[in-house]
Amino acid sequence: MPSVNPYYDKLPGSYLFSEIGRRVREFTAAHPRNRLIRLGIGDVTSPLPPSVIRALHRAVEEQADPEGFKGYGPEQGYEFLRRAIVEDSFRNLGITPEEIFVSDGAKCDLGNFQELFDLSCKVAVTDPVYPVYVDSNVMAGRGGEWKDGRFSGIIYLPCNAENNFVPDLPRERPDLIYLCYPNNPTGTVLTKDQLQVWVDYAREKDCLILYDSAYEAYISGPDLPRSIYELEGARDVAVEFRSYSKLAGFTGLRCGYVVLPRTVPAGRAAGGGTDLWSMWLRRQSTKYNGCPYIVQRAAEAVHSQEGRAETRTLVKKYMDNARVIRAAFEETGFRVYGGEDAPYVWVKLPAGLDSWSFFDRLLHEAEIVGTPGAGFGPSGEGYFRLTGFGDPSLTEEAAARLKRMYKAIPE
Ligand code: PLP
Repeated sequence: MPSVNPYYDKLPGSYLFSEIGRRVREFTAAHPRNRLIRLGIGDVTSPLPPSVIRALHRAVEEQADPEGFKGYGPEQGYEFLRRAIVEDSFRNLGITPEEIFVSDGAKCDLGNFQELFDLSCKVAVTDPVYPVYVDSNVMAGRGGEWKDGRFSGIIYLPCNAENNFVPDLPRERPDLIYLCYPNNPTGTVLTKDQLQVWVDYAREKDCLILYDSAYEAYISGPDLPRSIYELEGARDVAVEFRSYSKLAGFTGLRCGYVVLPRTVPAGRAAGGGTDLWSMWLRRQSTKYNGCPYIVQRAAEAVHSQEGRAETRTLVKKYMDNARVIRAAFEETGFRVYGGEDAPYVWVKLPAGLDSWSFFDRLLHEAEIVGTPGAGFGPSGEGYFRLTGFGDPSLTEEAAARLKRMYKAIPE
């Protein structure tokens, strides 16, 4: 057999959600009659909005018609969708349809984008972190050694209650900086001033920000930035990643996009003056054949007046759940973060209680599945994540169980 990529061996044994799955399976095998409430994995539960379903049906019918049939689509996605995106989300921000690259979701884009950079590039992530940023760089060979819950080659920027979840600028200059706001897993946000600090830093130090705004639709604060391009100078130093998954329930349908301004230079490694836009186009047209036409029509419907109203209702439902969870934990005496501009509630555990122990306790005593903070990085230890994506009545039930649990079992 040929030698395999040795860097896969560097990845820590079990992916967070596999370990959760294993513990849940063990519990359900032992207690088959008990009804678990799952507030762990960040998947949506509501069906797709009606306007999206109608657009899908129409697009499917077109495929039966010789006039409407579509084969391979344009490399960057259909212009109808790229125009709708710019009109709806980037008007007045200087972004053009040709700077949008449609894909089958943000996870693939975020995992693939690091391919454009030299292996010597230094990567910084906020900690706790959405694991894809770290793991994809480790697979490529940028991780160094895994020791004490972190990779020696990655710069971790702790975000915790002590710094109010605002990362400090790194002491060592990174080449690539992954930022995610609203944040998964902490549910926290950055103000415009706080984000501007990062844009200014990237400009001064010649870094690239990879800005994941998969949860932008959950922002309610009127002055919070929804796109990094609202910040002065960001067009030269930032690439933004967006997704229809949490905006409109596309976790199964799959659609997302990269916003890549033509003004972002490729940096020293490219040598020949290539810009990042051209490199990403080359990468995508070599390795990817596009998001399905019917899905792009469905995504287009999200940007219609009806679609926007429907997705607002969807987002409100999940945010109401997040508020229920937040309130229940606050009532039982926990300190709670997030859950105001993001569907994630980040609970600080009492001193001495580690996040996997709390996971087991919540599973066994309240039959609720959440996510241990330690699974998101070293600074996640001592915290626990719950999501607002559940069914509202089950979320209420989970809140009631939690309150009962803490009445029955004093700390
Ligand atoms: N970015 C973050 C922070 C996420 O939490 C997720 C999904 O959970 C994604 C990206 C992936 O989105 P998609 O479903 O478009 O791949």
